[in-house]
Amino acid sequence: MAKTFRNFIGGEWVAPSTGAWLENRNPADRRDLIGRFPDSGPADVRRAVASAKRGFAQWSRVPAPLRGDVLRRVGDLLTARKEALADAMTREMGKVLAETRGDVQEGIDTAYYAATEGRRLFGHVVPSELRRKWAMDWRRPIGVCGLVTPFNFPLAIPTWKMFPALVCGNSVIIKPSEDVPHSVTLLVEILLEAGLPPEAVQLVHGRGETVGKALVEHPEVPVISFTGSTETGALIGETCGRMHKRLSLEMGGKNAVIVMDDADLDLAVDGITWGAFGTTGQRCTATSRVIAHRRIHDRLVRRLVERAEALRLGDGREARTDVGPLIHEAAREKVERYVAIGLEEGATLATGGKRPRGAAVAQGSFFRPTIFTGVTPRMRLAQEEIFGPVLSVLKVGSFDEAVRVNNGVRYGLSSSVYTASVERAFRALEELDNGITYVNAPTIGAEAHLPFGGVKATGNGHREGGWPVFEFYSEIKVGYVDYSGRLQRAQLDTYGAEG
Ligand code: NAD
Repeated sequence: MAKTFRNFIGGEWVAPSTGAWLENRNPADRRDLIGRFPDSGPADVRRAVASAKRGFAQWSRVPAPLRGDVLRRVGDLLTARKEALADAMTREMGKVLAETRGDVQEGIDTAYYAATEGRRLFGHVVPSELRRKWAMDWRRPIGVCGLVTPFNFPLAIPTWKMFPALVCGNSVIIKPSEDVPHSVTLLVEILLEAGLPPEAVQLVHGRGETVGKALVEHPEVPVISFTGSTETGALIGETCGRMHKRLSLEMGGKNAVIVMDDADLDLAVDGITWGAFGTTGQRCTATSRVIAHRRIHDRLVRRLVERAEALRLGDGREARTDVGPLIHEAAREKVERYVAIGLEEGATLATGGKRPRGAAVAQGSFFRPTIFTGVTPRMRLAQEEIFGPVLSVLKVGSFDEAVRVNNGVRYGLSSSVYTASVERAFRALEELDNGITYVNAPTIGAEAHLPFGGVKATGNGHREGGWPVFEFYSEIKVGYVDYSGRLQRAQLDTYGAEG
């Protein structure tokens, strides 16, 4: 009998008001049922908001350094349970253990970074233009934050949102992806164990169109942070615009690696293989395009094909596995549709393009690492986010053309250039239209203490991680203190007033 999990609302673990449940199954083996999770409804969201408001009243009054102490204990607990968390995450999401360990580590780094931020949260004291007057600003908590997260980083992305929001003194309601509800359940248990007041965190499981929508539309949730597809983000953006909500959007990508003719090809092949096929291509920063200089194009493709064909598919919890399954059948069917589109558009299938055979992969949503060559910039293969193990190779004749091809898509998350030239490296940093550019490294590899996010259809100007995220989760307040004992008028009395 599979375990039945609950929401965490009003300081207790409760069944959904709907009485309905969603099954959570291992994508590497659909026979493995992890558990039943709540298929909640708007009434559960309303209860969570009422409780989170009480949580906010209590938690926002705790001094920020003490809020940071709770996050430090969270970091300690994540560290102690790293292996168990990684195992649970691989079981429900599919990526290999090395990667889910990295996912937990990102949560640990985010916890310790947030803990130290509890002792910073800087404001400014600046000179006033008037005598005997102080002018300053500082940060205040905002209220209840609604957090909606995707499936591909089941733990790290929730921590990117929850930890800074909490250190800033807000309460949080998290609606994790219905595909990976277990990882966040384990995270909420850790937050409570670390001493977070129970009403400061609420966990409402369920589907996006019901629970996610109800959370975004609730008038008493002034802050929404969303990571997921650009299509869903656009819907959320419309609602938040109409309701005057503060909104952070982190969305899709179509990331490219540029390989110039002076590149270290060994390094580039390592980076592209990891960037394209790690997490089975299901990363917002996955390498989905290679923009190769014509002088090295054929050599590079030959080696990439060799490497792709050597990758071993299987259950991510087995040591020999390099690449796990896609998250579900709908994701695998989407990849198959794009393979058909690529062939119709006239691209050449260099390897992959189909489901693998064999008993080890028969019960899961596996797909062979796939490489297309002969891809041109306007093809859908080169423009649209596939979110699977499909790499498109485009051939260019110059660095300028490579920059144009990189920038000629609607997304702008990450990019990378492999070159030995300092001039090209710095030009890439300046000219590639992305939130993140790597030099001689793949398109993935963000660190928790740096800002993370993209431009164009990838984002809406905010960043996760690093210092800017603490700005997002706090409101700036300005105070003036005039101790001159008389009326002083800014601008009017500024010049000529005597002390
Ligand atoms: P998704 O958009 O399908 O779902 C994301 C979350 O939104 C889920 O929790 C879902 O339940 C919820 N949701 C769906 N419809 C909703 C609605 N109408 N209102 C409110 N919430 C709703 O995305 P996914 O398939 O889980 O994740 C893959 C996508 O996420 C890719 O496009 C990927 O690029 C993107 N992503 C971006 C980043 C980034 O930082 N830029 C990071 C990871 C993933």
